[in-house]
Amino acid sequence: MSKKSPVLRLKKSHEQRARTHPWIFKGDVADVSDVAPGDVVTVIDASRRFVGRGLFNPRPALCCRIFTWEDEPLDDAWLARRIEAAVHAREGSGREAERLVWSEADGVPGLVVDRYGPALVVQCLTLGVARRRSTIVAALRRRLGDLPVAATDDSAMAALEGFEPASGWLDRPGPDEIVVKEAGVRLAVRPGAGHKTGLYLDQAENRARVGAAGGRGQVLDVFAYAGGFACHALAAGATRAVCVESSAEAVAAARRNFELNGVAARAEVRAVNAFDELRRLDRERARFDLVVLDPPPFARGRTALDAALRGYKEINLRAMRLLAPGGRLATFSCSHHVDEATFEATCREAAADAGLRLRIIERQSQAADHPVLLTVPETRYLKGLLLEAV
Ligand code: SAH
Repeated sequence: MSKKSPVLRLKKSHEQRARTHPWIFKGDVADVSDVAPGDVVTVIDASRRFVGRGLFNPRPALCCRIFTWEDEPLDDAWLARRIEAAVHAREGSGREAERLVWSEADGVPGLVVDRYGPALVVQCLTLGVARRRSTIVAALRRRLGDLPVAATDDSAMAALEGFEPASGWLDRPGPDEIVVKEAGVRLAVRPGAGHKTGLYLDQAENRARVGAAGGRGQVLDVFAYAGGFACHALAAGATRAVCVESSAEAVAAARRNFELNGVAARAEVRAVNAFDELRRLDRERARFDLVVLDPPPFARGRTALDAALRGYKEINLRAMRLLAPGGRLATFSCSHHVDEATFEATCREAAADAGLRLRIIERQSQAADHPVLLTVPETRYLKGLLLEAV
């Protein structure tokens, strides 16, 4: 990185937000000096006062993310210290699988690092971070030991940012499968394969709590991925679980997890579309003591919001109709563009249409290793309600 970094001057209208929020869009920029894509830029306000320092990329609309608001060099040593701090913050968690670095929330926008037992998975989401991958890996290994590291870059982000997405083990192979324990339940992970980095770690705490909420009844785990919620519920004493999941890879992972936990005889996974299956179960007048709804983000952008809300309402209405008397529904939304109040209102509408009164047992969020920044509301994305029919 160059000693004297180029300068990005903000429009006056964006000055105040930039003091607490790292994202700078092209429309927020008054002018920017010559800076190579992925390089460090010093951000100044309209009156040329220092605001912070970040990484710049002229290609995407979100052209700069601020890493520090201190007047300090944003060099490899700085990056290593920031990664150290994030790892340190998780120390003593006792978890075998966890998020060690979570992008903006850990002060390293564009970087995700997850640990699965004896292996690490690194995901780079910006060009600037992807360029620094070897520095990042070296810093992680200095802190955590010489672990195998897999890459699992997001291809959509890589195309947007203009870098070649990396995938698979980096410099030497690690294990094909790692079995991690999550609150007593065994889950198989193929690092760097499958969805996300291997598991939906953001749901780790909710899986254990919701699983325990199922009692000794019948469970329906919809949008199940590798059947994590079902495994927890079965381990906690549920008599039977049905998973609904459309991805073949996830279906195979769910079956593997049932075997690993010795619950295969009580578990079933249906490789079908969740919307169709909910409708079919409703027609069949099936009843469950616990229904889990954990769909993918229906609203990927603001414009898709109305359609997303219709989707949430439909699945929640159908799930509510499947509840046995006193049954529980754990329902989630991971759409950034659907806030907690809107999600709750949508569930309320579904309950009204179903003619059901439901008590809120618990409001849920993402796991603690995905911390939320007050000033960056985008870091709070997972919302959940554990409801009980009264
Ligand atoms: N509950 C899971 C995470 C679910 S993520 C866990 O705790 O690990 C959402 C899942 O829904 C993904 O696995 C995706 O493959 C699946 N999915 C997406 N659309 C679907 C559909 N229409 N029908 C069934 N499954 C779907």
